[in-house]
Amino acid sequence: MNQEKIGKFIASCRKEQKLTQAALAEKLGITDRAVSKWETGRNLPDASIMPELCDLLNINISELFSGERIDMDSYKEKSDELLLEMKKQEELKNKKLLSLEMVIGYMASITFMVMIFVASFIEMPIWTRVLLIAVGSTAFIVGLINALKIEHDAGYYECPECKERYVPSMKAVVMAPHIGTARKMKCPYCGNKAYHKKVLTK
Ligand SMILES: [Zn+2]
Repeated sequence: MNQEKIGKFIASCRKEQKLTQAALAEKLGITDRAVSKWETGRNLPDASIMPELCDLLNINISELFSGERIDMDSYKEKSDELLLEMKKQEELKNKKLLSLEMVIGYMASITFMVMIFVASFIEMPIWTRVLLIAVGSTAFIVGLINALKIEHDAGYYECPECKERYVPSMKAVVMAPHIGTARKMKCPYCGNKAYHKKVLTK
């Protein structure tokens, strides 16, 4: 932050509004010495005073901090860029989560099958068989719950009817029949009951 630039900007905006240092100070309930200190770059306005100051100078906070007018075109461009970047980040995060879900799902299923196989076909005392089946089933259930939790947390579901994207309740996800990651659920917006596909961003 360039204090001197901000100071000069405050001074020029104040003059644009046809205000003297004293008049501006009075409107803000502060001394004109304080205004003079901002304008010479020795001090920055208090955060508590900034909204009112911006109002009086007819500028926004971003402009105050950058010490210059930001024209609305590049302002929009900048915020669009930021939004796009955030969307990309979210997409990446959700992609990672969903591949983690696949790994957990496969591992749980494989553990389950191996244990059941071993318990069924390999010679061993009965209590070992029971233990193996119990451990295998537990691994499977824990894996399944975790996988479902990830699927619930990552991204959104899209209604094919109204195209709204939403996060369903955990219960709705658990109860819903699915094909791949598409789940048959009721849309909270239009009530359409169909296979809602998984999407990574809002
Ligand atoms: Zn809908």
